Amino acid sequence: MYIKKQRLLTPGPTPLLPQALHAMMGSDIHHRTEDFRKIYRAVLADLKEVMGTSNDVLALVASGTGAMEASVSNLFSPGDRVIVCSAGKFGERWAEIAKAFGLDVILLQEEYGRSVSAQRVADALKTEANVRGVFVQGSETSTGAAHDVRAMGQAVQKTDAIFIVDAITGLGTMPLDIDGWGLDVVIGGSQKSFMIPPGLAFLSISPKAWGFAETAKLPRYYFNLKKEKKNAANGESSWTPATSLLLALAEALKYVKALGMDKLVANAEMLASATRAAVTTLGLELFSPGCPSSSVTAVKAPKGMDSGVIVKEYRSRFGSVIANGQGSMKGQIFRIAHLGYFDFPDLFAVIAELEIILTANGFPVKFGSGVAAVQNAYAEVALAKEAAAV
Ligand SMILES: *Cc1c(COP(=O)(O)O)cnc(C)c1O
Repeated sequence: MYIKKQRLLTPGPTPLLPQALHAMMGSDIHHRTEDFRKIYRAVLADLKEVMGTSNDVLALVASGTGAMEASVSNLFSPGDRVIVCSAGKFGERWAEIAKAFGLDVILLQEEYGRSVSAQRVADALKTEANVRGVFVQGSETSTGAAHDVRAMGQAVQKTDAIFIVDAITGLGTMPLDIDGWGLDVVIGGSQKSFMIPPGLAFLSISPKAWGFAETAKLPRYYFNLKKEKKNAANGESSWTPATSLLLALAEALKYVKALGMDKLVANAEMLASATRAAVTTLGLELFSPGCPSSSVTAVKAPKGMDSGVIVKEYRSRFGSVIANGQGSMKGQIFRIAHLGYFDFPDLFAVIAELEIILTANGFPVKFGSGVAAVQNAYAEVALAKEAAAV
């Protein structure tokens, strides 16, 4: 017997920031009081600051999917034509939500492991008439692929359509110039880069998107963005808020502001790049080599091995929880996350564990070779900088 610390290393929920977790103990306050209004106002202002936008930012009590649904039900009318970019399970979710609400979906689909090109979106906007909205994932968490939302935003900006970006794992892992790139709605979730438990979703809404809210006829009740905006201006939420999560978020946003959102993104990019180097050194293949996101790296299991064995052994041997593939990718890939509160020591451990698991299952690797790739990546970014500074 030996000690196995439980480590939550999935691309959501992600590792929790300790001071955010501790802040949740202070939730014995009432939400219709000045004490709470102060916190709520500060959280919304800080969210806006770290998202780097002049657009309104609202919070909802829901997992990320709630904000996805809200953006459909609050901004569109039955039969509206929309383009959905789909390259994975979350792209499929966009299509399912849009269809559930009676929108007319033009599907731009790509194989798992690839991304929909901005050119395809630009072409579809030219050939299809009366497109009212374009939906995409900044980072498609199921495959570890990223979309070029900058180029897509530029294409959508020239039209009367609005651009809705599920950035639930994009925020904090990729640069997102919301105002500059024409990202009309940008959606985030608490359990991803924001280092706190699941249960809060948030979204930024541009003036162009608010214009859509004026005429949108789809039914809605709980997720009512106009009502939420009105209440937020008074420091309140429409319904009972998730007080404990907001207290946690207040702490997490303090941390992210002190670090800098650009540094949070750079941290994810560094870890993602080091992970790619490490797993390819170990002879494994990346699942989305052409368009890798920095939120999560999807890796193919060695031929003849079920990725579920890798996931299971992370847990049984070391107490580490990592993600399997979803849907038809289950058993094919495993996913190493980098979003939010992840650091180099986490990655040293994840790769060292992987070397042992592969070796134990008939795929022997040279111990330390993958870890050395991560150490070299650290040396390149950090040691080189220190040498340059002296
Ligand atoms: C996690 C995630 C979601 C939202 O999932 P919830 O379970 O509703 O929080 C949506 N899109 C992407 C890309 C995600 O990673």
